[in-house]
Amino acid sequence: MVSLDEIAKRLDDLLRTGEIPDYQPAVNGVQVENRNPIRKIAVAVDCSQRTIDATIEAGANLLVVHHGLFWGGLQPMRGPFYERIYRLLINDIAVYSAHLPLDAHPTVGNNVLLARELGLTPSAPFARYQNIYIGARGECDLPTVEVAARADRFARTHGGRAVTSAILPDRRTRRWAICTGAGASADTLREAISTGVDTLVVGEGPHWTAVDAPELGVAIVYAGHYATETLGVRALGEWLADEFDLPWSFVEAPTGL
Ligand SMILES: [Zn+2]
Repeated sequence: MVSLDEIAKRLDDLLRTGEIPDYQPAVNGVQVENRNPIRKIAVAVDCSQRTIDATIEAGANLLVVHHGLFWGGLQPMRGPFYERIYRLLINDIAVYSAHLPLDAHPTVGNNVLLARELGLTPSAPFARYQNIYIGARGECDLPTVEVAARADRFARTHGGRAVTSAILPDRRTRRWAICTGAGASADTLREAISTGVDTLVVGEGPHWTAVDAPELGVAIVYAGHYATETLGVRALGEWLADEFDLPWSFVEAPTGL
């Protein structure tokens, strides 16, 4: 068994949690403390009643997530939000969250791992956010329908499916970029165009991005917010198990998005 402080410190060092900027509700690092040493780790994309209950069931007392407790913003501890906190506290479960530090990481990050999953090799960073890059880009020579099919096969292993903006069947992908999660935006599209990217693989994005994509000469593959962010937490689980010789499990809780 290992103390939460020790695990949190190693994770903070690995992920450079103190240096990487993020959106305010991300609250990277320990979000909820506990009292007893950590005996087992559960990892999940989201911190929900569902994943908290699965953590209890697995006998774990540390839940490591990509999306923490605070994305709903400042709110009173009532209703479902209270229920999450209550279940964590009475079961002595700690929560550690890693958002952009996990997206951006060069070895356990969602973006590099999704590239590998799709058989693509990154050669440059992509998706600038303040002073960091979240995503990855590279070159290949594949039919775009093949990139889309690989993304779809991957999404289906996590309860989702991939959708692609309108493309011609013989279109080829020569320069790709990946930005997991809510990766299709005005910023990523602008960056795709300025870097010559012809195919952008994301988790999700607003409808207008699929309307604009064909006119901009970019294909967007929407592989699911949930599915594209399962890889980082799983890699963290493996890394933690190795570092601390602790059992771990991945909690699958697809959202349909
Ligand atoms: Zn996300």
